[in-house]
Amino acid sequence: MYNGWKRRGRRNHNGSDHGTTVSCEHLIDLRGVTKVYESAAGSFTALKEIDLRVDRGEFVAVVGKSGSGKSTLINMITGIDRPTEGEVWVEETAVHTLNEDGMAVWRGRNVGVVFQFFQLLPMLTVIENVMLPMDFCGLGAMRERKERALYLLELVDLADQAFKLPSTLSGGQQQRAAIARALANDPAIIAADEPTGNLDSKTADDVFTLFEELVDQDKTILMVTHDRELAGRVTRTVTLADGLIAGQVHHETNAHEPIATVAELAGEVARA
Ligand code: ADP
Ligand code: MG
Repeated sequence: MYNGWKRRGRRNHNGSDHGTTVSCEHLIDLRGVTKVYESAAGSFTALKEIDLRVDRGEFVAVVGKSGSGKSTLINMITGIDRPTEGEVWVEETAVHTLNEDGMAVWRGRNVGVVFQFFQLLPMLTVIENVMLPMDFCGLGAMRERKERALYLLELVDLADQAFKLPSTLSGGQQQRAAIARALANDPAIIAADEPTGNLDSKTADDVFTLFEELVDQDKTILMVTHDRELAGRVTRTVTLADGLIAGQVHHETNAHEPIATVAELAGEVARA
């Protein structure tokens, strides 16, 4: 089994003999992020000076009513969209400053994106879909890419579907294939926008469990979800309302900086 493109020196600057290292305290650091959409109907502010820091190994659920800015927030972190004002830092990369090409390469290496409707390419087999990000980033030789894709498909329990077309798979299987694709380049961050939104509850639970396993393996996950039961199983819940962070709950006992209590959050959810 081929389990990965191992990264160099990402986790620690241990006893550095490299002099001063620019090290960011947080894996993800959003500073005053505002997003204004301009359209024929006028301008609309979808995010209002958002400050959000996420550390490595966190599993963050982003919740809130439809239209509250959840997808916009995720798109800031993946670089799918850009802030109108403010800064998006991922480790030492100023994501908001990257040009289109730089963004695509950076995302390919650093963020695995999972969507509600899977977005597998229908003309490619499952394994070809999983190999695509490796092809794009030019990682490894062809044979290694294939071995790694098979390894990832085994990880998501889909090895037996590798050479089928996505349309022959169930929704849950397609989402697991999409997660394998998101893991292809061993990114530090997985960003998932309602990944269980199109799945039945049992399948949603399976996909969620897979995310939990990835967090155990040191991935950092941001997941938009409407599922309150799943949102209760993460390490932190961030509630958005009208483009603002309305509350945050840390679910770990050693949590820091809680700015809303569980009762307050329950109130938010109840009002939503
Ligand atoms: P959520 O994911 O929480 O449902 P979104 O982040 O998709 O919310 O959208 C937040 C707000 O921004 C919504 O009111 C939406 O209509 C608006 N919006 C999103 N994308 C665009 C766009 N491309 N142009 C104009 N308005 C947009
Ligand atoms: Mg959305």
